[in-house]
Amino acid sequence: MEELVKGIDQNFGYQWSEIDGDIMRVYVESVRREAECPYCGSKSNQVHSVYPRKFRDLPIQGKKVEIIINNRKFFCRNPECEHKTFAERYDCLPRMARKSSRLSEAIMNTAINVSSITASKILKQGTADVGKSTICRLLKKSAKMELEIDRDKPEVVCIDDFATKKRYNYGTVMVNAQTGQIVDMLESRESEEVSQWLASFPNIKIVSRDGSQLYAKAIRTAHPGAMQVSDRFHIFKGLTDAARQFMIHLMPQRIPIASDAPAGSYWQKETRADLPERLHNASTQKRAAAVQTAIWVTAVPIQPFGCIRPENAVLTRRKNRRRAHS
Ligand SMILES: [Zn+2]
Repeated sequence: MEELVKGIDQNFGYQWSEIDGDIMRVYVESVRREAECPYCGSKSNQVHSVYPRKFRDLPIQGKKVEIIINNRKFFCRNPECEHKTFAERYDCLPRMARKSSRLSEAIMNTAINVSSITASKILKQGTADVGKSTICRLLKKSAKMELEIDRDKPEVVCIDDFATKKRYNYGTVMVNAQTGQIVDMLESRESEEVSQWLASFPNIKIVSRDGSQLYAKAIRTAHPGAMQVSDRFHIFKGLTDAARQFMIHLMPQRIPIASDAPAGSYWQKETRADLPERLHNASTQKRAAAVQTAIWVTAVPIQPFGCIRPENAVLTRRKNRRRAHS
């Protein structure tokens, strides 16, 4: 156990431990003779007081681990220091944190590729009892750290917009299409800014995008030689929208239905009993729903063909027009 405790922090010494259900509590102490004032850097060995501090660490043999340390407060004897006392600090534990750095790192590694709700479910199975709000807070905190982006690496990327506040604030996200990882984010979707941003990635060869002409222009300006392709989601959305409109026009306004049609809420519309067959005026919405189902049954099997150049695609004009005005 001593070795295990040293693995968390070299300055920890093992005292004792206990098991309480699925939690293992490990009591440790600091083995340092003196501590360094975090404000002025001078060293002190004069203890002011001791208080218990507990935090969570990585699990051991399926048990969640809680470390309890009698944290010491020292006097700072530097007359020029603004602080009279300071609490002892450890490399394994950020200030005020209730999780060790390595546990936070494990949580982030899980949360980075899945939603916070899924990450919470996975982590609760053995690593830590963390809710989705804790995960979001950790991710936000890490996002504030300086990100090191290898701008030479991305060659095949996908760009799309996202809303920080719907209809008001939009940003652009770039995903590496080869690895599926987010490369970078931009707090704008204006053509000029997106163009400058794209130009800072010199090796881009293929860009997948939606039907936005603003993005098309930005890509053309930043990388004239790059191939622009439509992403699968938008190509299918455009195609299904167009096919739905076309099929709705083909369908008659009034569809005769045999009087012995199966009973069901859809068919229980009031009809005149004396008619040999009732005439049912299906609403546009209901017809559209029926057409949508028919389209998806036909469209889904051709998905593996992947990307299609947007020039050949039927794209949603209304969306582009809306975006141009926003
Ligand atoms: Zn000091």
